[in-house]
Amino acid sequence: MSLEKFNIIESTLREGEQFVGANFTPEQKLKIADALDEFGVEYLELTSPLASPQSRIDCETIARRGLKAKILTHIRCHKDDAAIALDTGVGGLDVVIGTSSMLREFSHGKSIDEIIELASEVLTWIRSQAPDIELRFSTEDSFRSEEKDLMRVYLAVDKLGVVNRLGIADTVGVATPRRVFELISSLRRLTHADIEFHGHNDTGCAIANSFSALEAGATHIDTSVLGIGERNGITPLGGFVARMYAHNKAATKKKYKLKKLRKVDQLVAEIVGVAVPFNNYITGVTAFTHKAGIHSKAILNKPETYEILDPQDFGLTRYISIAHKLTGWNAIKDRAEQLGLELSDAQIKLVTQEVKALADIKQLDLEDVDELLHRWAEEQMTEDRPQTTDATSPIAYRAAPKENGRNEKQLVKQTL
Ligand SMILES: [Zn+2]
Repeated sequence: MSLEKFNIIESTLREGEQFVGANFTPEQKLKIADALDEFGVEYLELTSPLASPQSRIDCETIARRGLKAKILTHIRCHKDDAAIALDTGVGGLDVVIGTSSMLREFSHGKSIDEIIELASEVLTWIRSQAPDIELRFSTEDSFRSEEKDLMRVYLAVDKLGVVNRLGIADTVGVATPRRVFELISSLRRLTHADIEFHGHNDTGCAIANSFSALEAGATHIDTSVLGIGERNGITPLGGFVARMYAHNKAATKKKYKLKKLRKVDQLVAEIVGVAVPFNNYITGVTAFTHKAGIHSKAILNKPETYEILDPQDFGLTRYISIAHKLTGWNAIKDRAEQLGLELSDAQIKLVTQEVKALADIKQLDLEDVDELLHRWAEEQMTEDRPQTTDATSPIAYRAAPKENGRNEKQLVKQTL
């Protein structure tokens, strides 16, 4: 059920601001908020207005911007914080308190009973002040908290009947999909409110944990663009969307403007001063690049053979890499056709052999392959291809002495 009806709480403007390279200006925050709103996320979570005077102004500005996404801000479980947050005009408050023994001992120093008492008081007060606001209560470091403590807190809060959502947070990235499934399944059985999952990616489980949370009945998943956040961050928006698309393509395409994802990733990468990783979900340069000859052949015949994500749905194109030793003649033939060159299959196979032989001795690029193809096509137009060992002929590369790599490289360089 939740797998089809999930919501994204996009936290680039809260968790993402905790990324070491992020120091958003008000204008940058607006750009990011607008881009995410265009993409279609259901919620935007903003840094607490208590963080700094400008954070407060930014909260007010974004809350008034008339975006389709609901605007949330993230605050500690304090009445004073809540009062200031409510004044900003946001549509929802995400209230958090630590429940692990470490956080209780080294952070706020409260017992579980004291946490329940404080949460009850603050949440009931917020609801009395703002009957229509969306209210979430989350524990922090949930997966290193005693489960009996966690459940006592959640049951008590759920019983108040004032919160819309209960949040589970893998604050340190320690959870595994199975553990997430178990904990959220218990919470689903015992409580009535919606369930939000916030997962850090320290051990690479954030996306799988988020999916597992939905399978267990969670309704809301926190993400950030490129996964930026504390340390190595949280569930990345693009990766999570890729997972949901693989699960239900039609529903995901309907829910979000997938073609805007690239713009969102690039915008945030540029603002925080990083490159989009080469192997990033969907928008990395290699995400739709195929290389091995056997893959290329199948991809040319039917892309789904090796693709579960259709690049066109994301406004992207697939690329078949052909300038290497693993290339296949079907891919080379496809390239010749793209270039409008007429070569027989036998000739294409010879060109393919040459590409492989050259790739053994130097780094090739597409231009090298194109030049070879053009040369074969030109020679075919003038006469039957001469069988020569002339150093200017591509055939000469195969004949060149292997033991003298440097000379061979130089030869290749000269003739290509
Ligand atoms: Zn976090």
